[in-house]
Amino acid sequence: MKRRIFLTTASAAIGLPLITASKSLQPQTEIKPMSRNSAAAHYDAIVLGVGSMGSSTCWFLADRGFKVLGIEQFDISHDKGSHAGQSRIIRKSYFEHPDYVPLLERAYANWKNIEDLTGSKIFNHTGVLYFGKKGNELTKGVNTSSTKYSLPLDRPTIQQAQKQFPAFRIPNDYEVIFEPDAGFVTPERAILTYAEDAIKKGALIQTKETVAEWKQEGSTIKVTSDKGTYTCDKLIITAGGWAPKMIPGLKQELIVTKQMIIWVNPKDWKPFSLGNFPCWILEDPERGSYYGFPILPTKEFGGPLGLKLAHHKPGEVTHADNVNRDTTPGTEEDLMYCLSKYMPDALGPILSAKSCLYTNSKDQNFIIDHLPGYDKKVTIATGFSGHGFKFVSVVGEILADLAMKGKTDLPIGFLSMNRLNK
Ligand SMILES: Cc1cc2nc3c(=O)[nH]c(=O)nc-3n(C[C@H](O)[C@H](O)[C@H](O)COP(=O)(O)OP(=O)(O)OC[C@H]3O[C@@H](n4cnc5c(N)ncnc54)[C@H](O)[C@@H]3O)c2cc1C
Repeated sequence: MKRRIFLTTASAAIGLPLITASKSLQPQTEIKPMSRNSAAAHYDAIVLGVGSMGSSTCWFLADRGFKVLGIEQFDISHDKGSHAGQSRIIRKSYFEHPDYVPLLERAYANWKNIEDLTGSKIFNHTGVLYFGKKGNELTKGVNTSSTKYSLPLDRPTIQQAQKQFPAFRIPNDYEVIFEPDAGFVTPERAILTYAEDAIKKGALIQTKETVAEWKQEGSTIKVTSDKGTYTCDKLIITAGGWAPKMIPGLKQELIVTKQMIIWVNPKDWKPFSLGNFPCWILEDPERGSYYGFPILPTKEFGGPLGLKLAHHKPGEVTHADNVNRDTTPGTEEDLMYCLSKYMPDALGPILSAKSCLYTNSKDQNFIIDHLPGYDKKVTIATGFSGHGFKFVSVVGEILADLAMKGKTDLPIGFLSMNRLNK
């Protein structure tokens, strides 16, 4: 296939918004300025929403030589959707369901590939410490996945775990598991890396442009934004919290919630710092699942400053266009409960509190499929239900396969639309 290269700065020449590209990003050959009014505004594929899943999808499409347009209503990246906040846990012994493990094997390989290709460090191996009262669902699920796929886990005693990570206080009747091949990925850097390299490979990514509607017209899909109209052979919708608005028929299937994350200021940072402290997930018998990260040095990771933690539970139901960004009442008490019970030395003033969106499916599993009724011309990825980021590197590949080949070899049957409305 002939590779087409488009220069994003050509958009600037005609007054269009563009992603800022460094000098090294400028393609050296075959520059074809784009105009919205020219016949060239037809694409092999348009990616609606260049956040987490959209950025990697643009990359996989551009890498394969397709003419791709990514449209993003804000910046690459931003803090109004689902991906802000410095870090996302990545792990393989998937307590949610073992069927995710083969996808995670591929996600791990793809993260390594993009890191090797670009020199950008995204995956940080800290391991993940899981703990909960004996018989809890969290460690039960971790055990199920690791047994099915022979994934290595350490099973320290409580004393051994507390010796290695002295910041934790773990009750005597709890079970502890440590997953060494796990840690966190950096969402903003991952998205920028995929988008930047997609541009280098010829993708056109336009920012501060909102898609208003799309429809099928004959053999093409017509996409209308607040800035122009485009046509494409294939449309891929990766709209995060805006999916209920952009995907017909899914409004009743998706619930968007506002989730709070906080960063606290422990008196002594050393036991909580990167290198001394792992990512962790615990199941409290009364309040459910909490999780957190080590303190990350800002010179390498940017802000916010401090020790990050959150409660993985359904937050306040909201609409992505109309989110009240104030700290949800009760957040501080809830997270201080967790710290005082399990990490009392971390108790300290709150340095930052931020909100972020979950797009929840009814069964908390992702929805990745062709949208019925459009001849496989429209592919969707939504319902990431607060656990999608670690899959960004594989979801981009899956979406590029589904859109351009009509199928994927990766086992995603359990994420299909068939299960909805049952
Ligand atoms: C607090 C919190 C903690 C989390 N922790 C973890 C974790 O530890 N591990 C993990 O794996 N996952 C985690 N997740 C989940 C993960 O971050 C999300 O599943 C993932 O970011 C969802 O990606 P997305 O592409 O669907 O959404 P987004 O990244 O929000 O991207 C959607 C994009 O579409 C754009 N868009 C929408 N509509 C339009 C339109 N009409 N026109 C143009 N652009 C449009 C939006 O602006 C946005 O940029 C967490 C999420 C939250 C909120």
